[in-house]
Amino acid sequence: MEFQNQYLKDVYETVKKRNAGEPEFLQAVGEVLESLEPVVAVRKDFVEEGVIDRIVEPERMITFRVSWVDDNGKVQVNRGYRVQFNSAIGPYKGGLRLHPSVNASVIKFLGFEQIFKNSLTGLPMGGGKGGSDFDPKGKSDREIMRFCQSFMTELCKHIGPDTDVPAGDIGVGAREIGYLFGQYKRLRNEFTGVLTGKGLTYGGSLVRTEATGYGLCYFTEEMLKVMKNDSFKGKTVVISGSGNVAIYAAEKATELGGKVIALSDSNGYICDKDGIKLDIVKDIKEVKRGRIKEYAERVPGAVYTEGCKGIWTIPCDIALPCATQNELDAEGAEALIKNGVMVVAEGANMPSTPEAIAALQKAGVLFGPAKAANAGGVATSGLEMSQNSMRYSWTFEEVDKKLHDIMVGIFHSAFDAAKTYGHEGNLVMGANIAGFLKVAEAMKAQGIAY
Ligand code: NDP
Repeated sequence: MEFQNQYLKDVYETVKKRNAGEPEFLQAVGEVLESLEPVVAVRKDFVEEGVIDRIVEPERMITFRVSWVDDNGKVQVNRGYRVQFNSAIGPYKGGLRLHPSVNASVIKFLGFEQIFKNSLTGLPMGGGKGGSDFDPKGKSDREIMRFCQSFMTELCKHIGPDTDVPAGDIGVGAREIGYLFGQYKRLRNEFTGVLTGKGLTYGGSLVRTEATGYGLCYFTEEMLKVMKNDSFKGKTVVISGSGNVAIYAAEKATELGGKVIALSDSNGYICDKDGIKLDIVKDIKEVKRGRIKEYAERVPGAVYTEGCKGIWTIPCDIALPCATQNELDAEGAEALIKNGVMVVAEGANMPSTPEAIAALQKAGVLFGPAKAANAGGVATSGLEMSQNSMRYSWTFEEVDKKLHDIMVGIFHSAFDAAKTYGHEGNLVMGANIAGFLKVAEAMKAQGIAY
């Protein structure tokens, strides 16, 4: 990490010392601090008020034991986390991730990024994130239920509709949110909008399931229109992952005239040159909870390749990494560039390594960073909170239009901030700066003992 500004350098050194052994968190902080060079050059007030020293330290980090009993009657123990990173502009908001790779570093990087993402949506939401190293793969519905109930038994002490409102993330979909919500209600005797991503029968919002993937495509379409006078029409699209974000990004990309030819999971990827048949993917992933390789067994002409990184060697115009952090490295970026990729937009959180981003930007590839491009999920969660507070539901079309307008707005906020601060076209800097400014002003206004 290279900083010209001494204050930023000092802040980063402190973060490094205080969070040794947390590479994902340091990566996320480093990228934001680098983007803030042109801001601190003109906003000495933020330096005097210690806004950046404060924003890199979570307001609260909760770690707890989650014990549950498996189907064989054996006691299992996992670790649960909730980071309440910043509440300057609204209640903490951010998903829960269930994956064996979850640790303090992963939760803190996600919570830190969430501050800026939530700010970009224009809605009043602070930044938080949580989860557990529990692995949902291969678990029965009843085991998932018992885990979720135990997890919520502790988490419920720290959250609430005006305090902290969790949602889904990797490994947490409608089923898990249902079990978590049921347990919260049972323990607190309150029917409130304490979680988003709820089922439609008990306070969920239409479009929440589709929101992150759809939003990613709305953002990408606007980026193509403004920066290249182009669109999805006739473009070949490669998408990594085959979970919630990937499936609905594929659906919207297809609707906008693109041809999606590849999807993956953590074991490998499929390529279907005729265009992926999404009804089959949904059946495999959403109904049967199966593996993506089953697609190649069901669709003649489709090919499955073991190992997930090779997906970036498939020639395409638009690449949408929608699986997990650091899945697109320098090698993957070089392969995309060699094959003439035009746009990379991030559906997952921090899926591109710093080296990959640098290579793509240097090659003139349009790059849409996660904080901006995948904010559609949390934006629609914000709309779910509004509907819950009003005790009212908007139609699919109403929510979809609001989501579309928010994503177009986010693109323009990032684009304009990059231009104002002398880095036209650099949406990484633009998103970080635009997201930061609102939170920083609020922190300054609310005083230091905050
Ligand atoms: P899901 O659990 O629905 O799907 C995750 C997908 O990514 C699966 O296909 C999974 O494959 C794959 N994957 C997970 N870990 C790895 C890995 N280590 N290597 C390769 N592939 C992997 O999660 P989501 O679709 O909800 O989330 C995907 C990404 O999008 C995450 O980064 C998440 O933080 C981000 N995101 C999600 C939002 C949402 O609304 N859901 C909002 C904003 C961001 P496998 O089944 O083999 O594990």
